[in-house]
Amino acid sequence: MASRTFSEEDLSCPVCCDIFNNPVLLDCTHSICESCLQKVWRTNRARQCPVCRKRNSRDKYPLNLVLKNLCETFQQEIGQRERYCGLHISEFKLFCKDDNQLACLMCQDTRLHKNHNFSPINVAALKLKEELKIKLQPLQKKLDTLKLKDPMMELPNI
Ligand SMILES: [Zn+2]
Ligand SMILES: [Zn+2]
Ligand SMILES: [Zn+2]
Ligand SMILES: [Zn+2]
Repeated sequence: MASRTFSEEDLSCPVCCDIFNNPVLLDCTHSICESCLQKVWRTNRARQCPVCRKRNSRDKYPLNLVLKNLCETFQQEIGQRERYCGLHISEFKLFCKDDNQLACLMCQDTRLHKNHNFSPINVAALKLKEELKIKLQPLQKKLDTLKLKDPMMELPNI
């Protein structure tokens, strides 16, 4: 797994406590989401930094592009991580049919999944897609008939 030199906390806005969304860099070098800054300053006429209370004089502050990039990378990494088993730090390769959940090769051997039926993840994904297709068929038909009717209904009244 890729190593990180920063923590989630470093990437959290002090106001909304979420990962920064378009962070701007203040005079005091603190960063805060652009939208949070607007919110804070609407009620704080002295334009104080929410972290250190230092006053800021400018109306607009530049985006902290480095931080913005870091946050985006971090969020991508979180997306990646969901493909890994949290227990065994191993990639999900199987799908437990009994529990309806993803499992890694090591999960398969644990007591939690004793005598459970597994299928390779690709097959499982394919099957789910097929099931979805079947479920969607009536809707698709409905849509088709609507499409056939639609041009008639949309004819302008002359
Ligand atoms: Zn924020
Ligand atoms: Zn500050
Ligand atoms: Zn596992
Ligand atoms: Zn299971």
